[in-house]
Amino acid sequence: MSTLALLGGTPVRTHPFPAYRVIGASEIEAVTKVLESGILSRFLGTWHEDFFGGPQVQAFESEWAACFQAHHAVTVNSNTSGLYCAIGAAGVGPGDEVIVSPYTMSASAIAPVVFNAVPVFADIDPVGYGLDIASIRARITPRTKAILAVHIFGQAADMDPIMELAAEHGLTVIEDCAQAPFATYKGRPVGTIGHMGVFSLNYHKHIHTGEGGVVVTNDERFAERVQLIRNHAEAVVERKGVQDIVNMIGFNFRLGEMEAAIGRHQLAKGPELIAARQANVQALEAQLAGVPGLSMPTVLPGNTHVYYLHTLRYDAAATGVSRATFVKALKAELPHSELRDAEGPLIGEGYVRPLYLQPIYQRKIAYGTRGCPFTCGHHGGTVDYSPGICPNAEEAHATVITHELMRPPMTAEDIADVARAFHKVAENLEALRDLDAKASA
Ligand SMILES: *Cc1c(COP(=O)(O)O)cnc(C)c1O
Repeated sequence: MSTLALLGGTPVRTHPFPAYRVIGASEIEAVTKVLESGILSRFLGTWHEDFFGGPQVQAFESEWAACFQAHHAVTVNSNTSGLYCAIGAAGVGPGDEVIVSPYTMSASAIAPVVFNAVPVFADIDPVGYGLDIASIRARITPRTKAILAVHIFGQAADMDPIMELAAEHGLTVIEDCAQAPFATYKGRPVGTIGHMGVFSLNYHKHIHTGEGGVVVTNDERFAERVQLIRNHAEAVVERKGVQDIVNMIGFNFRLGEMEAAIGRHQLAKGPELIAARQANVQALEAQLAGVPGLSMPTVLPGNTHVYYLHTLRYDAAATGVSRATFVKALKAELPHSELRDAEGPLIGEGYVRPLYLQPIYQRKIAYGTRGCPFTCGHHGGTVDYSPGICPNAEEAHATVITHELMRPPMTAEDIADVARAFHKVAENLEALRDLDAKASA
């Protein structure tokens, strides 16, 4: 049994893991062509044929729509701005509530706040981590206008019951697909199961353009409203003859021609990049079998998982070692990944803290100093952000280990090193128990 690196032994590996590099020769060539063309963007914020953007943006949108079986795809400069567009397009406004998961990136919940609406957090299913239908049902009030379902970590939330409930109450359903491009639910790609779906193209995601995003929908009216919010709606509606001007407050969320050109190649590479992740996860999970206290993520029946993150459940009662100490020992055995040196080994405790614990919700301060939108004016209800409102999310946050060490171009050897680190830590639980005991003494 070799000594843990945490206790002065030799680490399993010190040379860095390969950088997550998915941009190659075809993207470089495509960007060069855009630069040579002289058209780096061709959007006009007025009702004109250039309202829809330049040739790369429009080609990328039609390819994206075809790939994800959507009638419309509208590019934006991030998933965050795509969520703003979708929430705005749904007509959400002051006094409305939007039901959202607390176990997601902060942008999913902030989109309603931008339109002066109140996010209401429903709990998650403890197995798949998507929104739990019973909890959503319990949170519906006469003010509820929309449900924002997040396909977290790479697999779909259970959409059929959500769509049924939404139909019963006349709610709009928006899917946050940032972590799940190419994931399927009962054979259908995520994004158009709800009324609108929003994808991310930021550099952490499966496919990327540095920064970027796409909104998909099968509804022509939503597509038009998203296009307007993306591009200075207030200056366009009159000449375009748009009568419904609710939320037609424009932003500039337009994607550049270079990003769109990159995106077209990334889209084509998507399936191959997803398959590489799935193969790495499969190899890693086979090698992690038998590590005490660890359970592998569950792929829900009917889902394909695209593994934005690989989430392991850690049982401290089974090992007698706190998760914090277990992860600290693992990190000591493993190197950082190239290009992300400062972050250390890409493995960590939990995911994000349930969002309602952020100061904005705890203090109910967003717009100005008077508690808008939570306690001021139009929202006649009360909203509860107390610790404990979503026990499954809190429990997941306290017991999950997440890592990115399965992203391409991680090789079989790299994956084997990751597994070796887990096994080494597992063989040294006794020493870690002593460490925990000393820390708490
Ligand atoms: C990354 C992410 C976002 C934000 O995406 P950006 O393109 O960076 O704005 C939103 N929601 C989830 C679930 C994400 O993972």
